[in-house]
Amino acid sequence: MEKNFYCPECSSKLEKIEGCGSISYLCSKCKKLISRKTMLTEEQVEKLSAES
Ligand SMILES: [Zn+2]
Repeated sequence: MEKNFYCPECSSKLEKIEGCGSISYLCSKCKKLISRKTMLTEEQVEKLSAES
C-alpha cells in the first residue's frame, strides 16, 4: 500500500509527480514542491492536529 504525504505548511495532501526516474511531491495549495525531508506522514498530521 502506498503512503500519502502532506504539506508541512497547510497539511494538504501532496500530489506525487513522477518523471525521469525521480519522484517529487507538489502541494497544489501552496503551489510548490515539498522536499522529502519536510513533508509529513498521515500519522504526523494527525498528531499535530491533536496537539493544537
Ligand atoms: Zn501546502
